[in-house]
Amino acid sequence: MANQSLEVLKLSVLFDNHFFNGVPTQVHFIQNSSLVGTWIDDQGAANLSIGLDRIQFMSSDQLAFLIAHEYGHLVLKHPEKTLEIQQQYGIASSFDEFMLSFDAKRDYSKLMREMELQADLFGAQLVLGLGHDPVSGASFLLAETKSIQHPEGTLRVAKIKAGEQSLVAEDFSGTFNHLALQLSDAEVLAALVPSYAQPMGSVDSAVKAAVESWPVSGADGGYAGDTLYGFEVSVLLTIAVLACAIPKWWRRTSVG
Ligand SMILES: [Zn+2]
Repeated sequence: MANQSLEVLKLSVLFDNHFFNGVPTQVHFIQNSSLVGTWIDDQGAANLSIGLDRIQFMSSDQLAFLIAHEYGHLVLKHPEKTLEIQQQYGIASSFDEFMLSFDAKRDYSKLMREMELQADLFGAQLVLGLGHDPVSGASFLLAETKSIQHPEGTLRVAKIKAGEQSLVAEDFSGTFNHLALQLSDAEVLAALVPSYAQPMGSVDSAVKAAVESWPVSGADGGYAGDTLYGFEVSVLLTIAVLACAIPKWWRRTSVG
């Protein structure tokens, strides 16, 4: 498992403990993908998907910002708000988004982009609290172009820079398992249950992290972003952590 994936897992465990009392967010590492996203599944569990192509060459600052931004979405309840907004605008697919009238698209876009900016500032405060540089962390956004859901990357970084002075670093000192970030890779790996094989198309809520592969998108013309809401995975290899096992394991380590 590459260093980047381990770093993501450590951050995820830390943020789960800090914001969700250790209730694990399920992390899906997706092969041959650069998409990153969050959603809430039918069981109400928080999910985070990380395209492995996306994080492959990221610096530690950048990884921290990326994961912190995604947790910003989860903590600020953006997946739920997105569903509400999409219902309001009658959107069930990216095609519907595309077909909105000019005015509706502008208003819808504004709501969606606003959430991105909120998650950026939230993420910036988190990485600051972890001793990372938010502007350097957000630097990968500079290459991002504007979309219906996302503001232009240069604007996003400019907003972080502009707000840098007023950022309040998140205080992790009280977090039970701040230790998670100091653990060695070997220690994190020791907590992983080896080669847990997940049945096709099912997402087991007991899984903390898995390496998966999305099916090649079909002939329906939908773009890959849609898979976040109609989630079907074929699992090539699963590296799993039992949901109940991991918080106990961290706890044991931190007390012992
Ligand atoms: Zn986002």
